[in-house]
Amino acid sequence: MDRNAELFARAERVIPGGVNSPVRAFRSVGGTPVFASRAKGQYLWDENGKKYTDYIGSWGPLILGHAYEPIVEAVTKAAERGASFGLPTEAEVEMAELVCSLVPGVEMVRMVSSGTEAVLSALRVARGFTGRELVVKFEGCYHGHSDSMLVKAGSGLATAGQPDSAGVTRGTAATTLTCAYNDADGLEKIFAEHGEHIAAVIVEPVAANMGVVLPEEGYDPVPACGEWEEHTHCGRLIPGKKGFLERLREITARYGALLIFDEVITGFRLGINCASGYFGVTPDLSTFGKIIGGGLPVGAYGGRRDVMSCVAPLGPVYQAGTLSGNPLAMAAGLATLKTLRDNPNIYRDLNYLRASLGAGLATMFAEKGLRAFVQGIESLSTVFFSETPVYSYADAKKCDTARYARFFNGMLARGVLMAPSQFEAMFLSAAHTNEDIEYFLDAAKTTIESDGF
Ligand SMILES: *Cc1c(COP(=O)(O)O)cnc(C)c1O
Repeated sequence: MDRNAELFARAERVIPGGVNSPVRAFRSVGGTPVFASRAKGQYLWDENGKKYTDYIGSWGPLILGHAYEPIVEAVTKAAERGASFGLPTEAEVEMAELVCSLVPGVEMVRMVSSGTEAVLSALRVARGFTGRELVVKFEGCYHGHSDSMLVKAGSGLATAGQPDSAGVTRGTAATTLTCAYNDADGLEKIFAEHGEHIAAVIVEPVAANMGVVLPEEGYDPVPACGEWEEHTHCGRLIPGKKGFLERLREITARYGALLIFDEVITGFRLGINCASGYFGVTPDLSTFGKIIGGGLPVGAYGGRRDVMSCVAPLGPVYQAGTLSGNPLAMAAGLATLKTLRDNPNIYRDLNYLRASLGAGLATMFAEKGLRAFVQGIESLSTVFFSETPVYSYADAKKCDTARYARFFNGMLARGVLMAPSQFEAMFLSAAHTNEDIEYFLDAAKTTIESDGF
């Protein structure tokens, strides 16, 4: 009996595509979606009782692993006190204080219920604060499914976006300009033309929704150590050049536009001080989701006090939510953030695991003469089946997605659950161990040596 298939057949009759979020349908890798029945730590069991080591991690929130005991306890206790009140609670104050103390540039923060909501609210605030209408996003960055972010590049040199989903009006899409990731010169040109109308530039400080793509790092004019070699790990660094994120900061400031870091994935994933702390670049606004909710539906946006003072009831930008700051979600989020804050070794260990996974895979691919790049940072990584490293969405689109599908299915059969798409990240959690990485590498070896790969 195949319970996954049975459930999927039932689901397809009553849920569009059988799933509540498209990537779960496994369309880009083929086969029947895995229906989760339970999970603990790094392991997940499907409805057929098959056990997997999980590298999806609910797409990011579960940095401490599944059903982490202190989170389960905190949520249970909160549920006993009441699931929702529609009144302010102490947990929300604690959460806001914690986020403001941890994230550079965040002086005030508002809780919402998803990353999508955090982004659309932050964009509204940016437009309200600056009195300008245009925003700029980078191709391949995902910022949730609000209309103004479901926009793709126009044809040719046009920077005004086109709808990337049916149902998004051309008018809305036209207020979003698009630029290639890692192309600060391109952004400079967009500002030269539209600068006085641009309210904000939004960016994933590490792009993790086209696979993991790092921002080009800059150089000090003269590196303190005097050794360029040490710093040339991405191979495209030019001495004296500013990094991508630093240039975004500089360009937006020069034109009076706001810089928004979408930290829904990077927040509390790159480190306890998020991407802004990690790269030393402070945006005007930041958006959060995923880890901040510890597995429950949460988002947040925050930043400069003068900008956040535009939000109702303090200012003229309206934004509200029946379940915003929900007590169960705050309990899960607080338990997660406090564990991360009080155990800095977690980040060190995660980075070590990710690096050994990446190095093991890279060596294996090289030995087999297989063109692939393992790109990663801290506990995020992606195996790109590509001829060249990936710096932008145009590069990502050149990947061999059929090969990724074969890799995914080979790993799945051997009990390793990776993202069912080439253009997603692998998420490590504090529950993963060296043994899991060894198992992963063994499974990868058998997979790429098997017939037809
Ligand atoms: C997941 C994600 C979102 C959307 O968050 P939801 O909670 O799914 O609405 C926004 N931005 C980034 C960078 C994300 O990874």
